[in-house]
Amino acid sequence: MKSFTEEKIFSEKRCEEVKKMPEIKCSVTECVYNKDVKCGAPMIQVDHNGVSDAKNSDQTKCDTFKRS
Ligand code: SF4
Repeated sequence: MKSFTEEKIFSEKRCEEVKKMPEIKCSVTECVYNKDVKCGAPMIQVDHNGVSDAKNSDQTKCDTFKRS
């Protein structure tokens, strides 16, 4: 079990991580994380989309998408 100090340090680090997340505009409003045409997920995973060497944005995708 974590001590109060350890718990405080952990939660401060977690807050810093969340603050680092940039604002992401996203028009995929059917995603559970979308709020007011912006991404509200604490972190997202973007991956290749059917290719191993992306040449344009069509060849990338948001893996974090989850249907609401
Ligand atoms: S998780 Fe991906 S698809 Fe969903 S709102 Fe965020 S950026 Fe858009």
